[in-house]
Formats: sequence, C-alpha cells, structure tokens
Amino acid sequence: MALKKTIDVQAAVAIAAAEAIAAKTQGTFGVGGVMLDQHGAVLMSLHNNVVRHGLIFDPTAHGERQLIDWYFSELDKGRDLPAPQDITIVTSLDPCCMCSGAILAAGFNVVAAAPDRQAGINFDASATFPALPAPLREQAGATFSYPAVLGSSQYARAATGAAPKSFFIGKTVSEPTQALCSLVFEATEEEVTALFNTDLPQSQLKCPATLAPDHAIVRALKAAYPDALTYRCTPQQPDADLAPYLLRAMAEDRALGGAGDAVALLDSFGNLLLCLPGGRGASGIRTAFMETTRAYARLRYQLMAEATPAQRDEVRQYLGHPKDGTFVFAQGPDESALSFMDLGAYGSTMEGPLPLSNPAQFQYVRPRMEPDALAALCAGFPPLYRDVIRIRPTQVADAGLVAALG
Ligand SMILES: [Zn+2]
Repeated sequence: MALKKTIDVQAAVAIAAAEAIAAKTQGTFGVGGVMLDQHGAVLMSLHNNVVRHGLIFDPTAHGERQLIDWYFSELDKGRDLPAPQDITIVTSLDPCCMCSGAILAAGFNVVAAAPDRQAGINFDASATFPALPAPLREQAGATFSYPAVLGSSQYARAATGAAPKSFFIGKTVSEPTQALCSLVFEATEEEVTALFNTDLPQSQLKCPATLAPDHAIVRALKAAYPDALTYRCTPQQPDADLAPYLLRAMAEDRALGGAGDAVALLDSFGNLLLCLPGGRGASGIRTAFMETTRAYARLRYQLMAEATPAQRDEVRQYLGHPKDGTFVFAQGPDESALSFMDLGAYGSTMEGPLPLSNPAQFQYVRPRMEPDALAALCAGFPPLYRDVIRIRPTQVADAGLVAALG
C-alpha cells in the first residue's frame, strides 16, 4: 500500500471504504481512513479498532485518531514526513468530536465521505461547524471537505466545506461508494454500541480493595499505576487527599512536554485506580485524559482477553465500566482543540447515557472556563453527546482539593 498514489477523491474514499469493510469483519465500528501526502501518495491506511475479539479494546481507537498517533510516532522514529497542513486524511465517515479535535489540534486536512448525524462534527450537514468553539470554526471551514456525490439517490449531495487539496484531479465520490461507506457503518453501529452495555450495573460491582494483594486484578492495577488502591474517598466526592496524586502526575506531565495536565479515575467505591499525565512528547494528541481512558480500557481488555468465562465475570465485577466511577481532571475544559478532543473522547468512553445515580461523572479541579460558557459549549455538541450521554463537567465540590491545586 505504501507506494500507491491516489489522485482522485473517489480512489481515496474507496481505500477508506475497504478499510471500513475490514473493520466490520473484525466486529468493530465499520469505519476506515487513509492518510495521503501532498502528492496523493498513501502514507498509511487503517480502520477502527474499538472492538477486538468481541471485547472493548480501546474506545478511542477510531481511524483518524490512530492515523494521527501513527504520524507522530513515525516522526519520533526520525521519518521525514510532510507537515500536517500538507497531509489529507480521507475518512469513510464524518469525524466525531474526538477525532475532529485531534485533527484540528494537529492541523491536518480532511476529506469525509458518509455523514454521521449523531456524532459527526458536520452532524447538521451545514459545514459551518456550530458545535466547535468559535475560534476553531474558521479552521475547520478551511480544512474539512465534504466532496460532491453525483447522482439522484438519497446519497447524492453537493460539495460543501473546503475544496479538496489541488493534487486531487477527480473531486467527487461515486454514489455506490458513498452508500457503501454509510451502510458499512450503519450495519455495525447498533451491535458495537450494545457491547458497551454488557457491563454490570453498579449494584452488582465489588470493591477491588477487598481483594488479596497478590490477586491478578490487583497486580494488573498496580502494574498500570503503582499507587492504585492507596487512596479512597466517599464515592463521587474526591477530597483534598487526592491532591498529592494529581500534583505528582501534573509535574510528570510538564517533564514529558505537557502543560501540567493530569486525570485520575476513581471507581464507584471511591478507590483511586489511575492518575496519569499526558504523553504529549510522544504525540501531540496524547492528553492526560486520552492516556487515562486508554490505560483503563487496556487493563480490562488484557485481563479479559485471555481469561476463562468465570474469570471474565470476576473482572467485570471488580473493574466496572468507567461510567459508574469518576474522572477527575486537574484542569477543566477550555476552548482549545485538544480540550474539544478530550470532551469527544469522554463521549466515546461513555458511549451511552450516564447512570442517573452518577450525573457528576466528569469532575475537574481548576476551572478554565466560566461554568455557563462550559455548559453552553456542551449544549452545542452533536446529538449523541448532548442528548444521549449528556456530558456535563462539574467542578469538584471539595474546597480543600481546589485550594491544594492552586
Ligand atoms: Zn472519531
């Protein structure tokens, strides 16, 4: 694939569609993408990897997010790649909020095929991007392309958004290819979303702090984060004793090239499971939230992938879905692209409605926006985030914790 050159939008979308079919075969969301250089040469193509072997592998493993991390990891290895503004990501489905934030933060161009009226950044098909914070709308308008689909079926559309890069000669998508991109995603959406609901309700969860220190689940937790289970608060009410953990991760984040970003994950019993910095030195989009949600998903996946059915049930009992716990962000959301990515990734982690008993699942310590402005930002998100998940970041209630972080 590495030497293949595509000079028509149609040919590039066809590669993305082929990846989407491979994703469906794997049992994950049927979405694929391809990254092209400034001449139309294929740098990399891949597909969604949220689900592997019937288990949630990584809720953030969307095609575009993986392509961007791939780009930064190749740069890190010393490979000579064009700058993001010279690169185009062609995707079979309109990017979600996480991927749009990642794309805008890094500065890539996008050509999107099928619409996603629930989670896509162009959910209203206007190509004006009302969900984005105002400063990012202009950038998206100049870099996100929705090419024309010629024909007379429901899949036909006029071109909107930015013009595709000049190396593309043919700038349209054929109707059957556009339909394929839509149908492959629709064929997987319900089944994969249902996987997120195979977790136990909070009432059936067990406290991992009651397990023996040498239990496989405790050892895996400690391997992911040595301080796991050394702090516990009243469920959903992080207090000042969490501050040292956050401050240590914030210092690590600065040492790794970040801006002092850290996110903790508490379970539904108030146990500290993870508190991690970002990995911005390795990839510009590896924020603390991305690292934390991916680490928790990886922990559960690795424990379950090689387990017997009885062991799998035990993992589900002691390591519940994060929606029943609490994410504690050292710094609240702001209007940056990375923060928009985090809000989107939070939605991808939750995937479905937050439990009624846990409306403050997303808590932050230091505010970076006025609460009203933050609520307005969240209210402008596409329907999945706004109406189904109902993302609602709130500041921690404990004044001692707020004071400790300064
Ligand atoms: Zn995405």
